[in-house]
Amino acid sequence: MPALQDASALAPLPAPLRHDWGRGEVEALFDLPFTELLYRAAAVHRQHFDPAEVQVSTLLSVKTGGCPEDCAYCPQAQRYHTGVEAQKLMSTEAVLEKARQAKAAGASRFCMGAAWRSPKDRDIPKVAAMIREVKALGLETCATLGMLSQTQAGALKAAGLDYYNHNIDTDPEYYGSIIHTREMQDRLDTLAHVRDAGMKTCCGGIVGMGESRRQRAGLLQTLATLPAHPDSVPINRLVQVEGTPLHGTTELDPFEFVRTIAVARILMPRSMVRLSAGREAMSDELQALCFAAGANSIFYGEKLLTTGNPDTERDQALFARLGLRPMQVAVDADGHDHAGTVHAEIVEPAARPCAA
Ligand code: SF4
Repeated sequence: MPALQDASALAPLPAPLRHDWGRGEVEALFDLPFTELLYRAAAVHRQHFDPAEVQVSTLLSVKTGGCPEDCAYCPQAQRYHTGVEAQKLMSTEAVLEKARQAKAAGASRFCMGAAWRSPKDRDIPKVAAMIREVKALGLETCATLGMLSQTQAGALKAAGLDYYNHNIDTDPEYYGSIIHTREMQDRLDTLAHVRDAGMKTCCGGIVGMGESRRQRAGLLQTLATLPAHPDSVPINRLVQVEGTPLHGTTELDPFEFVRTIAVARILMPRSMVRLSAGREAMSDELQALCFAAGANSIFYGEKLLTTGNPDTERDQALFARLGLRPMQVAVDADGHDHAGTVHAEIVEPAARPCAA
């Protein structure tokens, strides 16, 4: 077991914000006895959040499929035969209709995802119009569109974009086994452009792609040593889609997934640690363990948040059984958060959001 550089770094109180985590330290956290790791993560969780509150997030795919990239997990890559039908960018009016429905359903943040390697400059005004219009409804805005130049990031910020999602996916050591059409550095550059433009970052990765524990530690270490911890850290469990290269990968031990959540909570104590892709296949008991380990954000259901959605009903029932409640956040027209209304986005994707 790798030695800790500083045993006091694991003390449950206090939990200072650090950006200098070493790989050995992160591996040592993963190697703790399960109950001890959960105890430490839960202690950190309580320092910064009400552990009974969970941020509820969903996402609208505004442009699905047909992506030229080769991310080995992704059904939206056009080179894999997964049955995902490529769709053009939705019209602003169609997006707005979804946004209005989201607002009526109690949403305060609206996240728009497009399966692009990066937006073309000619796409930016179309997306900017969506952002402006959605913002005008009084919703927080979030987007995931692939790589951004500094100029594009500035244009999206000027249109009113609050959050940008761009995942690093996996450990830099393992990255070349998963993606060949762009470099890890490209992703880090986009995150820098987003930060420099003054937007909040949403950045995480995927586990269960055949990586080792050391590589899971490397993913989290990379996130925790960014110049600023991501505001949201989505931890995805691989959804194996037939036709993608990762279909048939050995499933990750569920306890290892919980460990990943717990270590993310300890390393990035003020971030929203989000259960993202793969949650639908998790048992209620596994999700409960994730919440106990410090997860405090979820993607809500697979369809628009309307009554009768079985996924939503299951989530509501789980929240009730666990005594959890949606995090309360109100948003003014400038996108500032205030206590008051449900912090939720909207959902739609026939295929998983790119989250590229
Ligand atoms: S994850 Fe995003 S960038 Fe990668 S293939 Fe899928 S849509 Fe394209």
